[in-house]
Amino acid sequence: MISFYPGPSRVYDEIPKYVKEAHRKGVLSINHRSVEFMNLSEETVILLKSKLTIPDSYKIFFTSSATECWEIIAQSFIVTDSLHIFNGAFGEKWFDYTKRLVPGAQAFPFDTESRLEVKNLPLKNQEVICLTQNETSNGTEVNNSIIAAIKRKSPHALLAVDATSSMAGIELNFKSADVWFASVQKCFGLPAGLAVMICSPHAIQRMEAKHERNHYNSLSFINEMMDKWQTAYTPNVLGIYLLMRTMKKRKSIEQTHQKIKLRSVTWQKFFRGSKNIKLYIKNQGVRSLTVLTLTAKPELITEIKNQAKANGILVGDGYGTLKQDTFRIANFPAIKKAEIRQLQKFLDSYL
Ligand SMILES: *Cc1c(COP(=O)(O)O)cnc(C)c1O
Repeated sequence: MISFYPGPSRVYDEIPKYVKEAHRKGVLSINHRSVEFMNLSEETVILLKSKLTIPDSYKIFFTSSATECWEIIAQSFIVTDSLHIFNGAFGEKWFDYTKRLVPGAQAFPFDTESRLEVKNLPLKNQEVICLTQNETSNGTEVNNSIIAAIKRKSPHALLAVDATSSMAGIELNFKSADVWFASVQKCFGLPAGLAVMICSPHAIQRMEAKHERNHYNSLSFINEMMDKWQTAYTPNVLGIYLLMRTMKKRKSIEQTHQKIKLRSVTWQKFFRGSKNIKLYIKNQGVRSLTVLTLTAKPELITEIKNQAKANGILVGDGYGTLKQDTFRIANFPAIKKAEIRQLQKFLDSYL
């Protein structure tokens, strides 16, 4: 089955080989306090920084999911208030989770078809601004220049960015925000159960000032352990090993970005002029490069999904309120050109 699901998604073909290799090398049973683990952890961080062009002054932590990162941010950075800028289900969920933990979470929903206007944001020195860079539920994105503009306009706030379905797929300007995170089952092309959280020196200072130490995953503990290349709890060592192995093989993020962008253009052309299947997002300026959302009659969507499955292809369901009216196609780096052609050939008769 070829998976075009936007998470969990197609993993790299080398994964079974790397798992065997990890077993042979004893990685599956290493202790997370051992020097072997510390070396693996350090190597993985160095590779992430160089392949994704993350500033050297930033710190990288291993967590178990993007959802965990939402909670860590609420626990370890926010004392009273945060501003949540979102136009879809994942950003809204982040707001909901935060609201339950801290009292002053404020929502700023915006329209899926409009470019986020920084001048309209209710920026009032909130402690943390939470933004979903790539909204996986509807296939929209907030680009690097808008993120930089938010930071410029609110330099004292921490800017936290959920880049779960874009990190390692497109170029992100890490310098322009303080906290970035992504789980690995999307653009990283890895099995689920691991996430990375990236923090600027400003974020580390703020975390230290708050000094929150009430949770097993308080960032203070995670940070102290990472100073020794360790984790606060027994981590997904195999996941970290697979992350290290695949990052080692990865091209630069500039090259990956070019590939993803070209493929995105090809996909958009493919559906242009189609009578039955339309791009859900009409404004090209806000369309995600990594998640394509299509709309069609619900009966046609059901038929496409079923027939695709019978042909060995998994397309993504619509998400949340868009479940009936849309389906999604991942444009993630691990997907092969020939597989895209195969899906396009299949879809051709439905256009
Ligand atoms: C998938 C996704 C999440 C949730 O990731 P988990 O690893 O399941 O916690 C959060 N945010 C976005 C934007 C996502 O695409």
